Amino acid sequence: MKFILPLVFAMLPSVISSSAQASPRPYSLGVVLVVDQFRADYLMRFEEKFLPASANGYRGLMQKGAYFPLADHGLLQNMTGPGHAGILSGSYPYRNHISINWWYDRELKKEQYCVQDNHAKMIGSDGVVSTAKYGVSPRTFNATTIGDELKNVDRPTRVVSMALKDRAAILMGGKRADDVIWFDDKNCQWVTSDFYMKSLPEFAKKQNVSLKPKKNEKFSWGPFKDVNYCSKQSLQTPWAIDETFNLALSAVDELKLGRGKDTDLLLISLSSHDYLGHHMGPNDPNMEKMTLAEDKLISEFLGKLAKKLPNGMNDLFVVLTGDHGIPPMPKHIPTERLPAENIPSEVTPAIIEETLTKEFGKPKGGKWIEAMTEFQVYFNHEALDSAKITTTQAVNVCRPRLMKERYLDQVWSADEILRDRKVPAGEYGLVADRTLSYRSGDMILVFKPYHYSDDYPLTHMTMYSYDRYVPLIFWGKTFKPGMYRQIAHIVDIAPTLSSVLRVLPPAQSEGRILNEILR
Ligand SMILES: [Zn+2]
Repeated sequence: MKFILPLVFAMLPSVISSSAQASPRPYSLGVVLVVDQFRADYLMRFEEKFLPASANGYRGLMQKGAYFPLADHGLLQNMTGPGHAGILSGSYPYRNHISINWWYDRELKKEQYCVQDNHAKMIGSDGVVSTAKYGVSPRTFNATTIGDELKNVDRPTRVVSMALKDRAAILMGGKRADDVIWFDDKNCQWVTSDFYMKSLPEFAKKQNVSLKPKKNEKFSWGPFKDVNYCSKQSLQTPWAIDETFNLALSAVDELKLGRGKDTDLLLISLSSHDYLGHHMGPNDPNMEKMTLAEDKLISEFLGKLAKKLPNGMNDLFVVLTGDHGIPPMPKHIPTERLPAENIPSEVTPAIIEETLTKEFGKPKGGKWIEAMTEFQVYFNHEALDSAKITTTQAVNVCRPRLMKERYLDQVWSADEILRDRKVPAGEYGLVADRTLSYRSGDMILVFKPYHYSDDYPLTHMTMYSYDRYVPLIFWGKTFKPGMYRQIAHIVDIAPTLSSVLRVLPPAQSEGRILNEILR
């Protein structure tokens, strides 16, 4: 003991000095960059064409960050609402309740948008936007995000979230974000919801002033000739990505993000990749053109951002990922060998009506189906009650007939899964369990691979690899660079960031900390 005591005392000064040197926060700014519809193979396919690693575009993030080529959203139906809801909450829709983009609300007897809030008002440069169809807010979102958790322990962090799409900005920002901004293309301006603030922040107003004169100007890019700025087509071009980054830099300047007392969060989703992808498909040369344009714009954005921070890139961490993928366009594959088809949306409901009428007679109210949205069927419950049948019985009658259709793989009863706990086998059961919530329809239709509905030219609504896998990169001084070939889960992002930022994981988080990438 005699020898040990002096040793302990001898160690004390070094222990004290190393903890005194340790920064209370590893980063002053975190950027979460989501590319909408960024299928996992976009980075793999075009890697050789990206800017050199030193430019800090896609290649730089891949080579200098902890890169998971495959990160899994793991949902039954992968789309923008559920995708963004999982990224910073670490939760699946069975808990966060954002299971699809549009669901049918039985009480309101209306289709309801995933972030719709009829009590909220859209706020633009001049106050309430009178042309908004409905208000939006995160009230339907039954979860918190990393930003919310930092604020829940009174950390002086600022959280700013933005995207062309309202649902993307809102579901990343969560409930307590300072500024959540998206684009109102009708009025060519950035807007917010009065859920967050009563007037638009100055940095967004400033951007709106710069947009105004552009509205009547025209430009050409890729497949678009002489389109007006702010038009629907212009949002499918890199111009809209550049505008999103300009808004972000304007926020950094005005709010002095990255120069506050704690780690600020700047959450950005790039929606244009998705808008273009729905029309072109991932194999179209214009999607390569778009990806290479993003590479350049990300490099420029990170370069400008670093210049605004006292210690440049050293102050910054970046997370890059996608919210879902996309299947190939049928015209891009030999469909006589690999069946792929865009099924007219009226076909399936007609079969269901005919089958149930044949079995049970004419329904009370005229129709057996009250609504059908995103491959989910909401039965007319009054008709089922008066015929004295349950939703599961109706599904069981429809199933043998529907399964004769070339495009259907599974027909499930949501009640059977959610209430009776008769869960489909294997991976089907996992994705159904994670995704279905009380907002889901009564009958769930699972299309075969490469088949979807013609509500869009091309869409992502399945659990297949092309819709569920996206890349995931963590870049910054606390992350070990390298390619991590194991599959990460999107719900791992939030707990991993919570570990780095020393805060509790979000309330509904169920992912794991990606400990293998942490220094
Ligand atoms: Zn989409």
